[in-house]
Amino acid sequence: MAYDRNNIFARILRGELPCTKVYEDDYCLAFHDISPQAPVHVLVIPKAEYVDFYSFASQAPADMVAGYMAGISKTARILGVEADGFRLIANNGRDAGQIVDHLHFHICAGRDLGRMIAEE
Ligand code: AMP
Repeated sequence: MAYDRNNIFARILRGELPCTKVYEDDYCLAFHDISPQAPVHVLVIPKAEYVDFYSFASQAPADMVAGYMAGISKTARILGVEADGFRLIANNGRDAGQIVDHLHFHICAGRDLGRMIAEE
């Protein structure tokens, strides 16, 4: 899928839409999810044009891959969720329910999150 420069997260990165920022560096921006599914629900997006995890992992330069991973880790530390634990989710494509086509990791935490996959 081609990257759409008008997706919601691209517009947040350009400052055209607001976000509640948690952390930012040269590689990533972290902000609170607008519709939280857990007491802590933060999204971390790379400052680069990748639709999903597959395109990022196969095409991003090494410094971006490392910087983005470090940014996710720093965000978890800032949120104070390291000790009790947190879940990282990257939805890829239709069956995973990806609705915004700019790579993002969800950091979910703040309670027992139960099993990995919701029951049908
Ligand atoms: P996904 O299903 O993995 O694509 O999740 C996209 C996430 O983006 C959802 O959890 C939405 O609640 C969240 N989201 C959509 N628009 C915004 C926004 N403007 N600010 C923050 N989070 C958003």
